[in-house]
Amino acid sequence: MTRKSAPACCDLRVPLVKGTRQLGADSYCLRSGLYAVAILLAVFCTVSRIVVAETIDIDQQLHTADTLKSSNYPEFLRMVQSIGEQQSTLTKPQVQYLNYLRGWERGYAGDYDAAIPLYNSVVSNSDDPVLRFRATASMISNLSIAQRYLEAYTHLDLLVGQMANTTDPLAREQGLHAAALLNNQAGQYELGLDYSTTLLREREGLRGECIARELRVESLYKLKKLQADGEEIRLGLQICNQHREVVFANIIRGFQAQQYIDTGRYSEAIDLLNRHYDEVQNTRYLRVISEFDIILAEANWHLGEIDRAHSYALRAIDKRVPNEVTDSLIGAYRLLYQIAVRRDDPRTALGFHEKYAEAYRQSLDDETTRSLAYQMAKHRALASRLEIEALNKKNQVLQLRQDLGAKAAETSRLYIALLISGLLLVFLWAFYTKRRQIYFRTLSERDSLTRIANRSRFLELSMRSLEECRRNNKEAVAILFDLDYFKLINDRYGHAAGDDVLRKVAAACRSYLGSNPHFGRLGGEEFSILLADSNEQVAVSLAEQLRKAVTVSATDGVLGEFLVSASFGVASTKKAGYELNHLLACADNAMYKAKLCGRDRVAVFEDGSLRPHPTDRQQITESVLDGIRN
Ligand code: GH3
Ligand code: MG
Ligand code: MG
Repeated sequence: MTRKSAPACCDLRVPLVKGTRQLGADSYCLRSGLYAVAILLAVFCTVSRIVVAETIDIDQQLHTADTLKSSNYPEFLRMVQSIGEQQSTLTKPQVQYLNYLRGWERGYAGDYDAAIPLYNSVVSNSDDPVLRFRATASMISNLSIAQRYLEAYTHLDLLVGQMANTTDPLAREQGLHAAALLNNQAGQYELGLDYSTTLLREREGLRGECIARELRVESLYKLKKLQADGEEIRLGLQICNQHREVVFANIIRGFQAQQYIDTGRYSEAIDLLNRHYDEVQNTRYLRVISEFDIILAEANWHLGEIDRAHSYALRAIDKRVPNEVTDSLIGAYRLLYQIAVRRDDPRTALGFHEKYAEAYRQSLDDETTRSLAYQMAKHRALASRLEIEALNKKNQVLQLRQDLGAKAAETSRLYIALLISGLLLVFLWAFYTKRRQIYFRTLSERDSLTRIANRSRFLELSMRSLEECRRNNKEAVAILFDLDYFKLINDRYGHAAGDDVLRKVAAACRSYLGSNPHFGRLGGEEFSILLADSNEQVAVSLAEQLRKAVTVSATDGVLGEFLVSASFGVASTKKAGYELNHLLACADNAMYKAKLCGRDRVAVFEDGSLRPHPTDRQQITESVLDGIRN
């Protein structure tokens, strides 16, 4: 339906600009859409404003009912009923507030069995801590009147615990009132006095001060510290009258009158109560009405006005609080019994005495139960506090254990890390030492200039090889070569150039030899090679290759036209034997032969016996000189 109507609307419209039909159509559609949204928004705003206004209105009504509840009970009742009729539209907090007011209304009507569950539901379900606190305070008073003392004092203990965190003045007033009242009722008048004094301080000049003063008067009377014409009573009456709190003012008058009787001022008691008798009747508050009657009865009894006393005592019984044994009721039965005795009417006297005894017993039971409940609640609270403390301690111990465990694990991890680091360090140190060892051993075995085996290393290796060859009956050959006219190189090009020649010669030879044969620098410009498991022919051929390599390697232009050459001597174990020194001497001998024959050549040790060197040395010197000349 919606899908069809939208395009139809678009098709009927007239384009705004000729040639831009589509554009015009779109803008028309857009405008219509905007109008629709605007209308919807307006409707939504109006509806939500109405809803918000209603919500605010109900909040306001609830608050007004709350403030009227004691000063204008009929209006309060009407408002609670009216709000209750709109229950389905109430928000959750409003429902809880209404429940609280309904609880108050039921409690005021004396229907505690209905009031207590309503308060309890507020305590359990409301999200508002102030309302919860107020409901607890009101519930405590109701529980106490309903003689559910243990519950009352248990809740009182919780309430007192929350007092420090409650700042709302009205809630505090209710809390302090309940605390003062219940402590007075449990015979804890000093404590009651403390709470009412706090209440008085916090609510000075307000209605709360009237309640506080009434409670103080009660505590002081019970503590026998009240003076009938004292400041406490004067100020209490003044503030309660100021706030039109007729009930509280007359409760105070009740204590004042009682004090008059206790001090023998019976007429003053009668005068006082008579002045306010009608006013008290109008409150319809049975507790005070019956209280006035019994005090008047007692005062008249003391003055010998037996008939009046009798009549007031009967009225006190008539206006008694239903289902409750009050002091007024007990007093009335006792007085009626005494009057009957005085009138010499034993039957009536016995009847009232029985009632008096029964009421007195019930009252004693009630007092004992209340006192026991108070003590039990205190002990329970203490026990639960101790239990909580014990639990906290237990938790602390557990926490400490956990921390300790975590610390131990951390320490273990630290130890492991330390151990690993230590091991790593030891390993690194061992590795480093080994490398240094290898480095120094290599250094000690190598010739520092040419990086080939030095003399001692060469002799050591060669000796081992020769020994092996001897054992295995294998031939070995020694090649020994010496650079020709090397002194001249040093002289002409400097010692550094000479060093360079030595390095290059060693490198060139090494590339021909590979890794098998032993190759070393015997000293100066003299080198030697030992070929194990080889023969003279192979050695001569190798020596030839090396001779050419020496010439090529060193001819790199540094030395200009000057050619480096070397003279080689070859000696085989077949002719020279396996003794290393002898073998090298024979190779040396052959090398000198090569020098003598004109250098840059290879000579083989042939004859098996060494020729003495000195002659050759002389010839060599000569040939050196020849070389220089050439
Ligand atoms: P010949 O052909 O007879 O062997 O003549 P030669 O000059 O090579 O012989 P001689 O024994 O007279 O000279 C050897 C020279 O080698 C002497 C010395 O200064 C030089 N020499 C020895 N060791 C080194 C070295 O390590 N570096 C350099 N640059 N020269 C060295
Ligand atoms: Mg030499
Ligand atoms: Mg030489």
